[in-house]
Amino acid sequence: MKAVVLEAFGGPENLKVREVPAPEPREGEILVKVRAAGVCHHDVLHRAGKLPGAKAGVILGHETAGEVVKLGPNVSTHGVGDHVVVYQRRFCGVCRHCLRGRQDMCRALGVPGVDTEGGYVEYVAVPAKMGIPVPASVDWRAAALASCPIATSLRALRGVGGMNPGDTVLVTGASGGLGVHQLQLVRALGGRSIAVTSDAKKADFLKSHGAHEVVVAKDGAFGKEVWRLTEKRGVDIALENVGPLLPESVRALAAGGIAVVLGNIGGDAVPISPGMLIGRRLRVQGSGQAPVDEVRQAVAMIAAGLVKPVISAAVGFAEAPRAHRMLEERAVEGRVVLEGW
Ligand SMILES: [Zn+2]
Ligand SMILES: [Zn+2]
Repeated sequence: MKAVVLEAFGGPENLKVREVPAPEPREGEILVKVRAAGVCHHDVLHRAGKLPGAKAGVILGHETAGEVVKLGPNVSTHGVGDHVVVYQRRFCGVCRHCLRGRQDMCRALGVPGVDTEGGYVEYVAVPAKMGIPVPASVDWRAAALASCPIATSLRALRGVGGMNPGDTVLVTGASGGLGVHQLQLVRALGGRSIAVTSDAKKADFLKSHGAHEVVVAKDGAFGKEVWRLTEKRGVDIALENVGPLLPESVRALAAGGIAVVLGNIGGDAVPISPGMLIGRRLRVQGSGQAPVDEVRQAVAMIAAGLVKPVISAAVGFAEAPRAHRMLEERAVEGRVVLEGW
């Protein structure tokens, strides 16, 4: 079968189409014919050699949707022809994290594309419990984004942020793959969003994807404008998708608010005032991939039309280098998806 293999760390040209042995589903596994795979910034970091612990010589991709084409022995939960989105992590199902529904924290078995085979490929064999059902009414491209970035966004907003109807939510890096979906989720869940972007040209795009307010801040200084828009109250939740903007996001919080950190662009440490955290009873918490149940919720919201996956381009799997370039040059709003060879 064909696969896009990361032959060495470096530029997009290191992603090569290669012939590799097709997997056979073992006990408890399903064989999934990959129909669409999202291209994530995580993949770009991995390819460039900027992901600690990641290896070259692997198949990238953790945003994988496809069709079950074969069952391994003793699989009773799935049938041939089922549509699934593949969960982003191999999890054991029996450790303390798995047993309390936090499969995202299971350390047993690893992450597709990093520790195990990824989704830039024709077929993947995965444990059946990783195949989260998707209704046939959801198209493949949309299904590919159900786990990351949409469930990741839902996790940050509700699972970690504890969003309630009526909350005001700040979204930094709002035109990126996470941000554009967070804006829709805030609206769907009855909140008010304030989108932050560094690019004035993206304001209309953000409004059309659900932003109630847009703040253009080239220099990352958006706190004052957020203060004005909230009548000096601040926001209940700040979704910090960028990283370096965290101090400004924390300053924009209302008393009792929470900054949820999803981005770490640049990877540098940032200063935060302990006095401000104490005085205003603020919380800062990191967030990552969603547990299985929240991926199901994200699929349900997509199927109900409450969130529409924002896909700016779909290219063939063999054009993965071009997809990576588009992401790196920030030439895209929303996601790029690989589909067809
Ligand atoms: Zn991703
Ligand atoms: Zn586990």
